[in-house]
Amino acid sequence: MVDSDLKKRFEACNVLSGVGDAIGYKNGEWEFCRSGRRIHEDLYKMGGLENIKVDSRNWMISDDTVMHLATSEALVSKWESLPELYSKIAQKYVECMRDMAGRAPGLTCSASVQRLRPQVDKGWYIPFNPRGGGCGAAMRAVPIGLLYWKPEEILLLITISIESGRMTHNNPTGYLGAMAVALFVSYAVQKKPLKEWGAGLIVTLEKAWEYIENEGRDVEENRGAWDYFKKSWTDYLSLRGITDGISKPKFPDTYKVSERDKFYKSVSFAGTGGASGHDAPMIAYDALLSAGDSWEELCLRSMLHGGDSDSTGIIAAACWGGMNGYRDVPEGHYKKLEYLDRLKTQGKKLYEKSTK
Ligand code: MG
Repeated sequence: MVDSDLKKRFEACNVLSGVGDAIGYKNGEWEFCRSGRRIHEDLYKMGGLENIKVDSRNWMISDDTVMHLATSEALVSKWESLPELYSKIAQKYVECMRDMAGRAPGLTCSASVQRLRPQVDKGWYIPFNPRGGGCGAAMRAVPIGLLYWKPEEILLLITISIESGRMTHNNPTGYLGAMAVALFVSYAVQKKPLKEWGAGLIVTLEKAWEYIENEGRDVEENRGAWDYFKKSWTDYLSLRGITDGISKPKFPDTYKVSERDKFYKSVSFAGTGGASGHDAPMIAYDALLSAGDSWEELCLRSMLHGGDSDSTGIIAAACWGGMNGYRDVPEGHYKKLEYLDRLKTQGKKLYEKSTK
């Protein structure tokens, strides 16, 4: 039997991913602007968020959504074994690079994809990369959380997010970002209370480490680089007072545009909030926690800041869609979104495959 609420949330999760990316990107103008205040001034001059009419000319989707679609199309295709799936994901990543004009693809993704040999056994393995901690694996992992949203499928979620992540970002800071995003999307679909998500991630990290050890690839390099992601998250959860997953999150009394910019920068690896695998899902999560029930506040906090705003935008908006569907989202934000049909189709296919 079709669960029409769930089906709609799958669609909204996929479509709003594109919206979060397109608004955060604004054809490169906002993704690369390092001042949240300036972005908010631009927005004010444009008549505010309500007035934004996302279309394929002025609000192109960026590399994030192109790779999100690539992940999704591989997942819903027919495959019988994990190696077959990985070959398909790698193939899609190679193909999607032809659709990057004007979309500002990340350097790590572009360079790593060139090394992939999808038709060769293990041709999707790349060497461990001490500098592979960027957010490129995280930004495209939403569909994994949709397909494996049920708690009993957590091991597949972990496995596939890590393996697809390390096809381009073979570093725990990078691929654990993919796992965190997939996990948060699964929590959104489950309607798990937001304050529990961070604690859930910490528990899941233990299972991720077991997987890495059992798999036996680059174990020592991974061990050496593992703690940065974990420590960043435990510090963050402790600051917000939600380590236990029960308490209500605490925020500063004043937490406006410039305070948020400062905070996002403070959790970043090298000064750009959301540019890495650990802080892209962290900033999205922070925005979800502090925006409460407001789509508008979520946009202001996750898509309109001085950091890597399209990647934090795609993650936050996906979670909103997974929890709330299109609730309170103005039609102008998605009616003419680029690749709307592809995103809707993928939402439908992911729903069908995940519920059959
Ligand atoms: Mg982008």
